[in-house]
Amino acid sequence: MLDCAIIGGGPAGLTAGLYASRGGLKSVVLFEKGLPGGQITQSSEIENYPGFYDHTKTGMDFMDTWQEQCFAFGMTHQMEEVIGVKKVDNHFVIDIAGKDSVEAKTVIVATGSTPRRAGVKGEDELFGKGVSTCATCDGFFYKNREVAVLGGGDTALEEAHYLSNICSKVYVIHRRDSFRASPSTVERVKKTENIELILNSQVDEILGDKMGVTGINIKDKNGDIRHLEVPGIFVFVGNNVNNQVLKDDNNNFICNVNEQGEVIVDLSMKTSLEGLFAIGDIRIEAPKQVVCAAGDGAVSALQVISYIQEQS
Ligand code: FAD
Ligand code: NAP
Repeated sequence: MLDCAIIGGGPAGLTAGLYASRGGLKSVVLFEKGLPGGQITQSSEIENYPGFYDHTKTGMDFMDTWQEQCFAFGMTHQMEEVIGVKKVDNHFVIDIAGKDSVEAKTVIVATGSTPRRAGVKGEDELFGKGVSTCATCDGFFYKNREVAVLGGGDTALEEAHYLSNICSKVYVIHRRDSFRASPSTVERVKKTENIELILNSQVDEILGDKMGVTGINIKDKNGDIRHLEVPGIFVFVGNNVNNQVLKDDNNNFICNVNEQGEVIVDLSMKTSLEGLFAIGDIRIEAPKQVVCAAGDGAVSALQVISYIQEQS
């Protein structure tokens, strides 16, 4: 039986893995369904992680060594998708897609969040054919062309700025006239000559053909429609938490969650189910920052070590 199973290999899960294995736990396994690193690997930059201040480095560069550091202290990694977690007697059973289940004394859930869709007509049909949620991945396809960005948070404005270095023009469409993004990011975007802000407006429809996006229609608050001929639109309208692994066969959560499905934890990252911890973006009141996700990871691993010591 594993001492600790960690589900999700973003900044939260990897930090939990580092602290748990370095803290002396014998068998710490991290399950990650994709490449480790989490959402930040999609970011074109990271400038608010203390001690890491290099504008030439992407989120992918930033996460490059995290996993290696965990391996150095004995954590192992399985590239598998976890489909469910249940508590049986005093331990956990972790169900893995297409594989045998695994047992563990403790579980740390660090499954993060996934970009939300805006619910605009044409968005689903044209997703991956001009509609994207990753500027680092897809921005280059629009080199020297005009693109649109939807949203007014940190992600939308940071990625709009990134795209402005590649594309001839970036239209940022936001439904209000003030932004959720940090003031310094807003200022930077406002000073960028090839970014046009289209405020108090909503994308009414994304238009396309079998080759992909051909343009968008934007409706302002008076109901007037403006058409933009753009081959790409980047949608950055927030995230939904990945809490599916915490649902039982009857679709009920195995621990307490709030109305948004975020896991309710205390300051020790303990959930309402003993031995189960939740960290990073999936938990209530998560500041949705790499540094905070990493902090949660450390807190949870220290708690897991104490819990296992108390049990034995
Ligand atoms: P995530 O990073 O979401 O990682 C969760 C991991 O769990 C993923 O790798 C996923 O594949 C895996 N997973 C999910 N479900 C399963 C499953 N069932 N089985 C196995 N694995 C699973 N924060 C900053 O501090 N500074 C920034 O500059 C910044 N820029 C950002 C830019 C962008 C474009 C985005 C999207 C986010 C940015 N953030 C930034 C926010 C930051 O990336 C997140 O707060 C942070 O990554 C959360 O870490 P996490 O480990 O909780 O979750
Ligand atoms: P966010 O802060 O939730 O912002 C989402 C934006 O999309 C908001 O402006 C929202 O408008 C808009 N929106 C939501 N639904 C919409 C819809 N259906 N149609 C049109 N617009 C819609 O999301 P985020 O920018 O992805 O950031 C998520 C978290 O990660 C935040 O906590 C953020 O601070 C953090 N993050 C931090 C950094 C950094 O520190 N550098 C970088 C990226 C992300 P309203 O404003 O009107 O609600």
